[in-house]
Amino acid sequence: MPAITNKQQLLTQAQTALKKRFPLPEAEEAEPRPLLEELIYAICREGSTTADADAGYARLRKAFIDWNEVRVSTVQEVGDVLRPLSGSGSRAKRIIGLLQEVFEDKYSFDLSELDKKGLKDTARKLRFYKEGVNDYAVAWVIQRTLGGHAIPLDEPTLRVLRRLGVIEDFDPDNLETVRGSIEHVIPKTRGPEFTDLMSVHAKELCVEQDPHCSACPLNRDCPVGIENASKKTETKPKKSR
Ligand code: SF4
Repeated sequence: MPAITNKQQLLTQAQTALKKRFPLPEAEEAEPRPLLEELIYAICREGSTTADADAGYARLRKAFIDWNEVRVSTVQEVGDVLRPLSGSGSRAKRIIGLLQEVFEDKYSFDLSELDKKGLKDTARKLRFYKEGVNDYAVAWVIQRTLGGHAIPLDEPTLRVLRRLGVIEDFDPDNLETVRGSIEHVIPKTRGPEFTDLMSVHAKELCVEQDPHCSACPLNRDCPVGIENASKKTETKPKKSR
């Protein structure tokens, strides 16, 4: 198969191949979460998968009576509930920080009035909550709750995209520009599925240390996969006669 040079074609083919490899459960027609809850879910979801984030978020909802109880709890207490979600302590710190910021701003935990602003205005206002909201969280709520087009990029997704040669090293302060380039080639209708597949792929095959390239359906088009395959061929011992 000829090497794919076009970014859009590469990502479209990657999505199709990953969909076959990691069939996702049918998305349920659930009521969208209120904005603040979706931001808290985004903090659980960044750097994890839907299944792991769902489980962590469900534990959080079950363990505390309401958001105020979470706000006045310690990082240790909230982190213990989120565990075994990776980085549970820093997620807990962000969740408590976000709730505190919203509480100080609104004297409530209701962000529904922001929902009614235009997409750009809502995104700008959400960034005001610096403790809990980052570029991933804003992109997540645009994609899942606000009906806009955005592709949230967390570290595992960026790792896969880097290895595939779709993006290069970039200034972390410039994440919005990188996101724009990916949003340009992934249509809105495929955005949520793309996001979920990248997360599962990063957890199962394209892991941080020693990716499992020989088992990866993208290995014929991925520069790292191709390089790893050639290294393996070079180091294969010759058969003795
Ligand atoms: S071939 Fe290897 S590096 Fe490339 S996407 Fe697959 S697992 Fe990741």
